[in-house]
Amino acid sequence: MKILGLESSCDETAAAVVENGTHVLSNVVASQIDIFAEYGGVIPEIAARSHLEAVLPVIDKALKDANETLDTIDAIAVTHTPGLLGSLLVGTLTARTLALLHEKPLYAVHHLKSHVYANWLYTKYDIKFPVLALVISGGHTQILSMPSHNSFEIIGTTKDDAIGECFDKVAKILGFPYPGGPEISKHAENGDPEKYPLPIPKVAGLDFSFSGLKTAVIRKAQSIANLPISYPSHDIKNHLTPEQKNDLAASFESTAVKILLEKLDAALPSCLYSSIIIAGGVSANSLLRKTLGKTYKNLPVYFPDPKFSGDNGAMVASAAFFEIESGVKPTNPYSLTISPRSAIS
Ligand code: AMP
Ligand code: MG
Repeated sequence: MKILGLESSCDETAAAVVENGTHVLSNVVASQIDIFAEYGGVIPEIAARSHLEAVLPVIDKALKDANETLDTIDAIAVTHTPGLLGSLLVGTLTARTLALLHEKPLYAVHHLKSHVYANWLYTKYDIKFPVLALVISGGHTQILSMPSHNSFEIIGTTKDDAIGECFDKVAKILGFPYPGGPEISKHAENGDPEKYPLPIPKVAGLDFSFSGLKTAVIRKAQSIANLPISYPSHDIKNHLTPEQKNDLAASFESTAVKILLEKLDAALPSCLYSSIIIAGGVSANSLLRKTLGKTYKNLPVYFPDPKFSGDNGAMVASAAFFEIESGVKPTNPYSLTISPRSAIS
């Protein structure tokens, strides 16, 4: 079964054709990163307009690269929640229209579900259930228990900022461009992770908190630069040396990874898991990949291929395929709605 997957929940317009949930026939991503690097973050109205310009050429290229047409594919899948309202609207309205015009079944996919399914793309091995999934992205930080395909229970979530958002905000404080995650990693390679110890937040159970870590970096940076705590965070960067920035980046990154590991360790005994899956944009982080390795506590650890760790259409098509396999019926293209916020289920 060949599915055209569309993704436009944030600042990537993406389309891909995937066969049977795992075999990627094409994958096209038009990123708006260059536009938002200038602003230091995503501006929803600009994102939606950029999706409008990119969506049809991106779909066209994905179909051509796969040697398919809208008539030869079997189904269309699209992200309908969660995400930016205007961005989601562009993707879903396009998918609804194409599904109606070409009489194709339409599947509406939850964004976090598709991040998890990025791990099935190109997978030669069988991922064994039950799976413990750690979803770490720009908008979410969640620990999911996944007993079988298309079945999820949230067992931990962030109380405030998402981890990716925290990487982006700390990068901004240090004067690194958006998106901050890769920049923090790059600078951390030349820094000392032990130089500036940062506190690990005490949050009950399997939940996370990242806003305190961001504030701790601000306070540490102010104290290194001999600035008062009232000093505006946007200007601290001008008072830090490149070496201090590298050490702060390394100290922050190692603390963020420690927080993830602490919660992963706490989650593992809650069930006899057979595998660990890491998903979402922050799964590209090399320190996390190095720290967890290929097995952790005797369980196989799966990371998506780095090109599928950020937002893409292939993971949407994969998630839809496994939904169909588990009995999910197509959605009505006349009435499909979007939702900026909604929990995975
Ligand atoms: P997503 O929301 O899944 O599209 O992922 C985007 C988020 O992933 C942004 O917050 C990025 O800063 C973050 N990110 C991307 N690459 C890395 C990396 N190598 N290390 C840490 N965070 C990253
Ligand atoms: Mg995402």
